[in-house]
Amino acid sequence: MASFCGSARAYKIGRKRMKNAKGKSIAKAHLPDKPCKACGRPFSWRKKWARDWDKVLYCSDKCRSQAKG
Ligand SMILES: [Zn+2]
Repeated sequence: MASFCGSARAYKIGRKRMKNAKGKSIAKAHLPDKPCKACGRPFSWRKKWARDWDKVLYCSDKCRSQAKG
């Protein structure tokens, strides 16, 4: 007859920095970002802005429309 003691296993979760063998960071690639001229929030580069990222001033069409006028 086996009796199990109700022992709580206290195990520490050690967060160690993971490194890939190739040295690539697991995090997303660093994309350029800049603050929106309308709301001031920083927004990141998007693929749809690849062609005219320099011309993009607002994070969304909503902000752009608000800024106009
Ligand atoms: Zn905005």
